[in-house]
This record gives sequence, structure tokens and C-alpha cells, in this order.
Amino acid sequence: MDNLRELYQEVILDHNKNPRNFRKMETPDGFAHGNNPLCGDQIDVYLRITDGMVEDISFDGNGCAICTSSASMMTQALKGMSEADAKALFTSFHHALTDKEEHPEDVPLGKLKVLTGVKDYPVRVKCATLAWHTFDAALKKLQGNISTE
Ligand code: ZN
Repeated sequence: MDNLRELYQEVILDHNKNPRNFRKMETPDGFAHGNNPLCGDQIDVYLRITDGMVEDISFDGNGCAICTSSASMMTQALKGMSEADAKALFTSFHHALTDKEEHPEDVPLGKLKVLTGVKDYPVRVKCATLAWHTFDAALKKLQGNISTE
């Protein structure tokens, strides 16, 4: 448990200091703004989707350490994934942070597992899931755009 906690600290500090894919995308296919009033986190998530795959994903904005590092790790995890796999990962991540019960269909979280340390701090859970909800919103908007064209 102590090792996990240490790892958790280290990974979060590293991603907060050096967020990956932290940039505005000029002409994204999908875009959404996320706001967590409980903490003051504000982020934008940008998507480029090609043939149902997340070809590129980036974010910018102002968030606390948990929010920024979670967004950074999310972009790393989702880049190159199919939309379906990305959604499955979001669902599993969300379960891991919010649910007591086990979900046998959940996919392995890999590196994202360190973020499940925030589970014990309900206010922080919102920080850790903000980027994911924003990604989901961007994807839904994009699909909405496609279906109305
Ligand atoms: Zn926050």
C-alpha cells in the first residue's frame, strides 16, 4: 500500500509539472469545455478522430494537480485507441473511482491505476474524472455533428 501511495504521489507530481499533450488544437474534430466548480478546475479537451480512432487528443486550461495529471495521463492512454475502447476505459476508470462494487466487464486501467488513490477523497474524484467527462462530451458532440450532417 505504501509503495502504491508513493508511486501515486510521484506520477501525479510528474504529470502536473510536465503535462503531456498540453496544447490547444487549432482545428479539432471535437472539442468540449469542462468545469469543476467544487475545485475551480477548468479544462478544454480537443480531439482528432480518424476512422473511429483517437488520432490525436490534447487539452489545456487551469486545473489543480489531480485534474491536470489525470488529463495528462488520459491523453496518453487514449491516443491511438478506438472510440469503443476509449469509452470502455472511461467506464472502467469511472467505476474504479466511484463504485464500491466490482464490475467484471471492466478493462484493466494500467498506469491510470495510480489515480484511483483519490477514491477516498470524494471532492478529488471530481478533479480526477473531469478530463474524462470532458472527453466524453467532446466525443458525443462530434457524433452529434456527424449524425446531423
Ligand atoms: Zn481540482
